[in-house]
Amino acid sequence: MVYLKTDDEIELLREANLLVGKTLAELAKIIRPGVTTRQLDVLAETVIRDNGAEPTFKGFPNPYGPAFPASICTSVNEQVVHGIPNDIPLKEGDIVSVDCGTRLNGFCGDSCYTFAVGEISDEARQLLRITKESLYKGIEQAVAGHRLGDISNAVQTHCEAQGYGVVREFVGHGIGHEMHEDPQVPNFGRKGNGPLLKSGLCIAIEPMITMGAKEVYLQEDRWGVVTRDKSLAAHFEHTICVRRGKADILSSFEEIERILHE
Ligand code: MG
Ligand code: MG
Repeated sequence: MVYLKTDDEIELLREANLLVGKTLAELAKIIRPGVTTRQLDVLAETVIRDNGAEPTFKGFPNPYGPAFPASICTSVNEQVVHGIPNDIPLKEGDIVSVDCGTRLNGFCGDSCYTFAVGEISDEARQLLRITKESLYKGIEQAVAGHRLGDISNAVQTHCEAQGYGVVREFVGHGIGHEMHEDPQVPNFGRKGNGPLLKSGLCIAIEPMITMGAKEVYLQEDRWGVVTRDKSLAAHFEHTICVRRGKADILSSFEEIERILHE
């Protein structure tokens, strides 16, 4: 069931989401060759709990195996989403998507940023740029009176124009008291299709884009999702609120990007 949020609820959602941005910004300060994704996880959990919130990912149930063991998902190179943090040091030239979720005052934050580790190839840099652009193309369509398919189509066409793969098995979602609420928000679809967007609808838009084919498989740990052709994958996510004229972006990359550009 889709429910529209009140203005008070939207402000609580914003607080939870700004904490995700703040957490990712703390990680941005330490992401470099030699750092392990487990170190990122420990820092993320500390920042989240020190701010009076809970990491929503930790203990998240999995119908196919054990619950998620960490506070962030860290997906490196050909990993698309849901990578479990580990003790393998990041290397120069890697890309790492860090997806983070919080619950603060009963509302959920959910946002993801893909980071370059040291210097990365021009091809990888372009994948990150196009994937992030596609997120904002989707957000431009998230206005009252449009249809959900307008968002999906904007993401898909921007990425496929570059020859990139748009992952089908994982999608964006409504968000509120629960991290995953209705409706589903696919990164592919037709303009003018799907439910009508109304002011107060809060959704996470999250393109998961590969440099090659769109097919993926589940790793043995029953969490990590990897491209079948081993091509690189990127993932950017914002939680937004549909409004008349222009969406309200509740999460933020501002602090992350200020640190990356220092
Ligand atoms: Mg997420
Ligand atoms: Mg999400």
